[in-house]
Amino acid sequence: MNPSESNTHHASASVPPGLRIIPRAEHGISRKNISSGALRVLYRLHEAGYKAFLVGGAVRDLLLGGHPKDFDVATDATPEQTRALFRNCRLIGRRFRLAHVVFGREIVEVATFRGTGEEGDADRHIVDGRILRDNVYGSIEEDAIRRDFTVNALYYDIADFSVRDYVGGIDDLQQRRLRLIGDPEQRYREDPVRMLRAARLAAKLGFEIAAEAAAPFAELAPLLADVAPARLFDESLKLFLAGHGLESLRRLHNHGLLKELFPATAVALSGPRAAEFGRLLGYTFTSTDERVRADKPVTPAFLFAALLWEPVRSTAQRMVADGSDPAVAWSMAVDRVMHQQAARVAIPRRFALGMEEIWALQPRFEQRQKKRVMRLLAHPRFRAAFDFLVLRAHDEPELMPLVEWWTEAQHLDPQVLGERLTPAPAVPAEQGAASKRKRPRRRRKSAAASTGTEPTAAPQ
Ligand code: ATP
Ligand code: MG
Repeated sequence: MNPSESNTHHASASVPPGLRIIPRAEHGISRKNISSGALRVLYRLHEAGYKAFLVGGAVRDLLLGGHPKDFDVATDATPEQTRALFRNCRLIGRRFRLAHVVFGREIVEVATFRGTGEEGDADRHIVDGRILRDNVYGSIEEDAIRRDFTVNALYYDIADFSVRDYVGGIDDLQQRRLRLIGDPEQRYREDPVRMLRAARLAAKLGFEIAAEAAAPFAELAPLLADVAPARLFDESLKLFLAGHGLESLRRLHNHGLLKELFPATAVALSGPRAAEFGRLLGYTFTSTDERVRADKPVTPAFLFAALLWEPVRSTAQRMVADGSDPAVAWSMAVDRVMHQQAARVAIPRRFALGMEEIWALQPRFEQRQKKRVMRLLAHPRFRAAFDFLVLRAHDEPELMPLVEWWTEAQHLDPQVLGERLTPAPAVPAEQGAASKRKRPRRRRKSAAASTGTEPTAAPQ
């Protein structure tokens, strides 16, 4: 792309001030990299006489040479007019009405240009500077300036394959910089989640957050406390489970945003065991990022179990130091940490249960009586809990003998393992590991789906 000349190129009376048009020959977007569904939607709208643009993250990622997963379309057709053009179309959304056009597994989201509207409009509802409902249609210029970052407000025009830039997004893209459209403080007050989006997109794209966009974080981060915990859970998944989780975590922490999402985690990362905990999170997030990039399954439970591990551990430890029974202290610590967490990020019940099981199984790796070993091996969360033990062992060398013992135990024929464990109430670590006749144990069904890391043990 060589947009330097394009301003003069297109400086005609019909071009609004501030608009820069990058003609087809001067940018790298090829229709080959646009999904067939998105192209069909764009062409159909265009043929019906409407304006039709690809917009948002897809244009940004195409200009950066990436391969977008989803494609958003913006048009001057209303949702009803869009629906009339497609058989496979449904209208969704209360806060924003959108059309979804479905092609097999692909869904193309079509949004009507959204206006900026004034406070008090019947279709726009603003409370304390926050947009609660927003259904005012507008021009493409208005649609551009209500978007968050300049690099997210570029429009690819299916009419002539040019890119339209109303807000200086091309410059920022070239400088690899996230800049908010408009006054940063006002934009964060309207929607505090934009602060998280800054951290996430900076991590994903390897961009810098412009100084004036990062400056309000310190003062405005607490506004995140008023965002619905369910929305913050969705954002957390995008932050941590999209292949750039470690970088997202770093940026959140460095910008003082982590403490609004995972307060106990942020405290522990500044506490006496910050270095060890930081390394545990480093191992966990690195292996999760690798799995996501390799298209392997990952579970949020594993990641969240790691995020809250040190808070639970240290809370339980303090209770034990104050005279509590260790088992009681542990379950009280889990309850307390999970309860505090639920006020911020609403972790759905099934993942919360998974986290609690991964934690609860940790001490059970120390028990090696036959019955207990067999029961633990058969536990549906065994694989995830074992993988978590392996991560802990990176930094707690005293756990290594347990990791080795359980690595062998998993791969022994259950009958051989059973015989080995039979008479002694507690088996020394070497005994289970010593067999030469071991055979790989059949992998349990749940293994692949439940783990956040590679299975650590080779069969032999
Ligand atoms: P990703 O690559 O992660 O999907 P994205 O920029 O496409 O990033 P989406 O959540 O898919 O993010 O949003 C699509 C577009 O909608 C954005 O590019 C931006 O233009 C606009 N947008 C999304 N969220 C907001 C917001 N909170 N405030 C203003 N504009 C937003
Ligand atoms: Mg997107």
